[in-house]
Amino acid sequence: MAEASKHTGDTLQRRGLMLILSSPSGAGKTTISRMLLDRDPQISLSVSATTRPKRPGEVDGVHYHFVDSATFDRMVDADEFYEWASVFGHCYGTPKSQIRAGLKEGRDFLFDIDWQGTQQLYQKDQQDVVRVFILPPSIEELRRRLTGRGTDPAEVIQARMERARAEISHWDGYDYVVVNDDVEECFGKVAAILHAERMKRARQTGLIGFVRELMRD
Ligand code: 5GP
Repeated sequence: MAEASKHTGDTLQRRGLMLILSSPSGAGKTTISRMLLDRDPQISLSVSATTRPKRPGEVDGVHYHFVDSATFDRMVDADEFYEWASVFGHCYGTPKSQIRAGLKEGRDFLFDIDWQGTQQLYQKDQQDVVRVFILPPSIEELRRRLTGRGTDPAEVIQARMERARAEISHWDGYDYVVVNDDVEECFGKVAAILHAERMKRARQTGLIGFVRELMRD
């Protein structure tokens, strides 16, 4: 990342983007998200609001904004979400305000959301959204990753596999699809996508002035 930011293009003023990473659970999306956030200072996580209970180790305002159902409903009524969805019986939503302001300032946001959220976000703002889907390298490897997490009964693992298959069926609603065989390689590909998308002419709002300067007599 540090290397790439030396290029002139990265120093021009630009509009930020919304990078969506989706995958079935077990495909490594969380690891890739963490690597991006650790290694690239220009991107930060969009923190969703949710009605689901906090898990051990989760911090309010960092992993999610944990709210009760009444608060969530009020936020929906006040149109405070970019998108929201009910996932496995709990509500999740993307608050608008900080994202809109950040995009203008050239900050990028990472979204760890499912296909429903992706569709809604894309419908609201096609220009700023970049959709990346991560796939596991094989069905055997997916099963191994979903089994390896504990000593869960076979039907729980089976249910996870079915959810994963359902999620995979939405692969064609994404701009990019990356197979996560090797985590560093997968990260490299996602980082390359992010870099190329940042360089898109329409996002480089500083180009007009820059080119005008280049063309001066
Ligand atoms: P978890 O409860 O395990 O953190 O997340 C459950 C699911 O909710 C994941 O598939 C995650 O991608 C999805 N999710 C998290 N935040 C949002 C959001 O703001 N909007 C939508 N549509 N889905 C979300």
